Amino acid sequence: MATIKQIDGRSVHQIQSGQVIVDLCSVVKELVENSVDSGATIIDVRFKNQGLDSIEVQDNGSGISPANYSSVALKHYTSKLSSYSDIESLQTFGFRGEALASLCALSILTVTTCLEQESPKGSRLTFHQSGELDSTTVVAAQRGTTVTVENLFHNLPVRRRELDRNIKREWHKVIALLNQYACIQTNVKFSVSQQPTKGKRILLFSTKGNPTTRDNIINIFGAKTLTALIPLDLHLELKPSGTRSDVRIGDKLGPNSHDVRIVGHISKPAHGEGRQTPDRQMFFVNGRPCSLPQLAKAFNEVYRSYNNSQSPFIFADVQLDTMLYDVNVSPDKRSILLHDQNNLLDTLRSSLSQLFDTHEDSISIATS
Ligand code: ADP
Ligand code: MG
Repeated sequence: MATIKQIDGRSVHQIQSGQVIVDLCSVVKELVENSVDSGATIIDVRFKNQGLDSIEVQDNGSGISPANYSSVALKHYTSKLSSYSDIESLQTFGFRGEALASLCALSILTVTTCLEQESPKGSRLTFHQSGELDSTTVVAAQRGTTVTVENLFHNLPVRRRELDRNIKREWHKVIALLNQYACIQTNVKFSVSQQPTKGKRILLFSTKGNPTTRDNIINIFGAKTLTALIPLDLHLELKPSGTRSDVRIGDKLGPNSHDVRIVGHISKPAHGEGRQTPDRQMFFVNGRPCSLPQLAKAFNEVYRSYNNSQSPFIFADVQLDTMLYDVNVSPDKRSILLHDQNNLLDTLRSSLSQLFDTHEDSISIATS
């Protein structure tokens, strides 16, 4: 019989990293979220060869202090969370301290960073696969951080081949994801560009640091898209349900904390889009882009009862008490567990119908 023994640390790191960084989207997501967390007002995302050669995210955020250089890419080292109880009140996207560590294990990672007081001198950091700091070089830099990921999955041949083979589909997903971050981030100038293997860098889209998501939508999707939308602002009062675990959660909630607001924009009932385009249906929980399949289904079903030949553009931010959901369901935090989801969905359906009912012009067209 084979002996049971512990897997060596390096292999464990490699195995776990492959779960945090599963595809091109996860790289983009982690780097952009770090930039948002750093308080940046300018975020520039640059691809070479659609990310197959490199992905670079530059921000003008806080920068990283020299005292943290040696721990920035170590696994489970984070400046955002120190104990599990902090999760309940978390304001940042990140908290697991896994992204940069995982990227070291799966790519060539370089971080250039500069604190306000250090400008115009910053540091360029390189790392070992383990996440340990390899070198620090003084370079010219402005306040902020630039993270570059090259040769993604160079040491996972199967995954790299898959990435190469499916790049068209992956690229589509990456752009859709970046649209979501650019749309939800107000007061942030967001730009995305791509440089083909041969040829010049092309700006794909950008926002202007607008104060509203409405203006971000105009920058990204065009003013014409906006004219077909109505503002979404649903106040859903959820009745606290009485199971034992709910009561425990309820104990920590204030009197109004079962209230859920869904804010955003949705197609007028008569002005949907030709087909269901997932990149034009965006869902967020307290500003965090995430996938909410049940909520999406409810939106689409109600919409279809007014206009059954088209699908809506949806931009919906579910705003609720942090005690009412759990983001720690999957390593990429895109799946979210919503407390008492069925109750929420029922209330959503009736509020959405009421909203569409008030747009009578749309209904007469849709039903004629
Ligand atoms: P997490 O975001 O969960 O903390 P990461 O591995 O993504 O874990 O990042 C590790 C740490 O590196 C962060 O906690 C943060 O202190 C620092 N960091 C990463 N990216 C940036 C950035 N763009 N600007 C400032 N600090 C950053
Ligand atoms: Mg992070």
